[in-house]
Amino acid sequence: MYKTIFLDRDGTINEEVHYLHRPEDFKLLPGAAKGIRLWNEAGFRVVVVTNQAGVARGYYREEDVKLLHQYMNQLLEEQGAHVDACYYCPHHPKEGIGPYRIRCRCRKPDIGMFEQADREAPVDKAHSYMIGDKWLDTEAGARFGLHTALVGTGYGKGLYEAACRRPDGENPHSMDFFGETLLDVALWVLGREGGSLR
Ligand SMILES: [Mg+2]
Ligand SMILES: [Zn+2]
Repeated sequence: MYKTIFLDRDGTINEEVHYLHRPEDFKLLPGAAKGIRLWNEAGFRVVVVTNQAGVARGYYREEDVKLLHQYMNQLLEEQGAHVDACYYCPHHPKEGIGPYRIRCRCRKPDIGMFEQADREAPVDKAHSYMIGDKWLDTEAGARFGLHTALVGTGYGKGLYEAACRRPDGENPHSMDFFGETLLDVALWVLGREGGSLR
């Protein structure tokens, strides 16, 4: 079994850009490469799970998603980090063209991408995490039985602050930790897991 870090992509690893698909628009966020490198070195499998409804909407093709993921790994490798696998959901339940307009099981907050990853490399859930910048990310991770963290990049900080301002003081969303950057989240994970910090 593999202790696994599941990561959202947009707003978590790279700057949020609406319907991102061109490599020239792909910018790694501060702390992302270092956080991923720490997980790599601590023996975690690192997996991306990303909703890409831009494919369903016809804004770009699946091929563009795959090329972008190759480019992402090139950038990460320049900083000694890498992602082991990428899963994406190209569907949308209501919008979109042809076979992409379906109610699928893979679109987060559903867990089809996690199940697929688990079939290909069984996940040690007690030592695995889902991290993203939206509640649908932490919700999907919690549904699959993982520890979860919201990261403050992308939409994360705004969502977290809104949850903190609720008059009842109760955050209705699943979340074990909030970290400003992916590096902060990596340090939290390694602290919990007793990993060595380098
Ligand atoms: Mg995101
Ligand atoms: Zn899907």
